[in-house]
Amino acid sequence: MFSFHPKKKFGQNFLKNKDLLKKISELKDFENKLVLEIGPGKGALTEYLLKKQPEKLIAIEKDEELKPFLLKIQKKYSINFEIIFQDALRYEYSKLKGKKIFLVANLPYHIATTLVIKWLKYIENFESIIIMVQREVAERLSAKVSTKFYGRTSILVQLHSDVKKIFDVSPENFHPQPKVNSSVIELSPKSNLNFNYEKVDELLKICFAQRRKKLKNNLNKISHSNLEKIIKSGIDLNLRPQDISIENYVMMSNLLI
Ligand code: SAM
Repeated sequence: MFSFHPKKKFGQNFLKNKDLLKKISELKDFENKLVLEIGPGKGALTEYLLKKQPEKLIAIEKDEELKPFLLKIQKKYSINFEIIFQDALRYEYSKLKGKKIFLVANLPYHIATTLVIKWLKYIENFESIIIMVQREVAERLSAKVSTKFYGRTSILVQLHSDVKKIFDVSPENFHPQPKVNSSVIELSPKSNLNFNYEKVDELLKICFAQRRKKLKNNLNKISHSNLEKIIKSGIDLNLRPQDISIENYVMMSNLLI
């Protein structure tokens, strides 16, 4: 076998529990589908996914030292398996037009949120996004209004998709063991996206600039005429940003010019 020392800087916590790897590969019917795996590592999950006979599997891995492991798996299967050695944060996802993508990944935790936010721009290219993330990130992505983790990330992600937690995974299922708990979640893309992403995001950045402050204090950065419109819409500016629903953020963003 090839020798390899997991690298902290790449978030390399390999999932070693075969039952869990199998369980993830059975969450969807991947037969004849286009599957994209981010961070295949040594290919543990990749191999379970290949057994499901996808039409094609594309894997994006940053660490080229993992090449021998992945090439070995590639040789074993007659399936169209493309390995791309690149930073998934820099990959041009708009290239993946055509067949809808089933994204599956045990994500490097330090870049999980950034990756998810990046994928939102291409959400119509995805059929389903199944990812393992730090449990706290899972809670943030699925957080509902007026709860501790509800914020800009929850709102942006839930505007584009329905977020569902599938199961939790404890540290002993990985090598090396991470210090945190993990969760597997699914993002199911929504089809009717009736909002202007840039406008909503700009508003969210302003409103959540100081989470503990009332909306009226955060909104003092916007123009007087825009503020008037928000007041007229009936939004209570004495509320804090985490108490405003997603629908109301979209409504407010539509008022802004
Ligand atoms: N899929 C494997 C598993 O389940 O055991 C490995 C998961 S490990 C948590 C994360 C993987 O993502 C590692 O293989 C790591 O090298 C890779 N990775 C880290 N940063 C990356 C990036 N920016 N782009 C692509 N892959 C990355």
